[in-house]
Amino acid sequence: MKITAVVLNSVGGPVSVDTLDLDEPRAGEVLVKMAASGVCHSDQHVVTGRHPGDLPCVLGHEGAGEVVALGPDVTQVQVGDRVALNWIPSCKACFYCERGQHHLCREVVGPLWAGFLLDGTSRLSRGNQMIHHYSGISTWADHMVVPQVCCSVLDPAVPFEVAALIGCAVSTGVGAAFHQGNVGPGDRVAVVGAGGVGLSVIMGAAMAGAERIIAVDREPAKRGLALALGATNFVVSDGSAIEAVRELTGGRGADVVFEAIGNPGLQQSWIDGVRPGGVLVLVGIGGTAETTPFNCAELTRGHKSVKGSYFAATDAGQAIEDLCAAYLAGRLPVDRLISKRVRVDDVQQALDAMLSGTEGRTVIVYH
Ligand SMILES: [Zn+2]
Ligand SMILES: [Zn+2]
Repeated sequence: MKITAVVLNSVGGPVSVDTLDLDEPRAGEVLVKMAASGVCHSDQHVVTGRHPGDLPCVLGHEGAGEVVALGPDVTQVQVGDRVALNWIPSCKACFYCERGQHHLCREVVGPLWAGFLLDGTSRLSRGNQMIHHYSGISTWADHMVVPQVCCSVLDPAVPFEVAALIGCAVSTGVGAAFHQGNVGPGDRVAVVGAGGVGLSVIMGAAMAGAERIIAVDREPAKRGLALALGATNFVVSDGSAIEAVRELTGGRGADVVFEAIGNPGLQQSWIDGVRPGGVLVLVGIGGTAETTPFNCAELTRGHKSVKGSYFAATDAGQAIEDLCAAYLAGRLPVDRLISKRVRVDDVQQALDAMLSGTEGRTVIVYH
């Protein structure tokens, strides 16, 4: 079939909205009619080459839609199911899965992250040219063939655009708060960077019962949104932001600081915003060639930890299910995170809005 999709042809972009050929789903695969897809910095990292990708490819890794056709041997979903797409499906049987660290499983994501589906081939082409998949789910397209293991069946009451964001930014942020920050009642935390992931850390910390949640962002316009999602304080990121966080935490520093941007300079400096015995959680992802130096004596004497937090920091499929339930229970206001909706033809607008740093999440809506 012919589809409309956002293609990145070469590093640096721009992305183009093209008509492509999409083959039918093969064994274990399904055809999803996409309804909504988020726009995430990880997509932008592929555009800039900060994270090298296999090109040309169809970008997008936060999406939800309806299953409209099945390949052979599909047992986990049915035609008509509403699904959120998950870019880290797990095998449930390897070393990591047996230890509950499904997000570290590489058995299933290996071929997916090599730019193909699970059998090592692509369903996408443009004339005679093969086009790569991205993250196994390539959600910036009006239809896409995906492996059934990437599908989380949704409660029909969850809006597609909410489910799309739960599929990456929200799971990443809330997972960092619960599983790596171990945030609990009474904690005082700071969240550096109020983008899609940072705002989701804020929602997660609020769900976990943190007493003080200090949002830090260079853009004063983010204050209202950060407070609406659960922050108790907002600090503009400038030379005095760390001092401001200390003042708000009894002069000690935060129990947990979340760096939600992936900026080595910020990661390095914000260890000073962590109280002795506290934790710096790195949830924003930097470039694959970048390094962050830390003062080791400060880490040792201060008994501080630095932790990386990847995606949902647990079983992603389970996290999507749990967070959709939390949304329906009114405990996770994901819809307030959405600041803009665009058509796929205006994907560049969505990327620009994200890079401007003044918005919440922009969602591409299809059909
Ligand atoms: Zn993402
Ligand atoms: Zn596994």
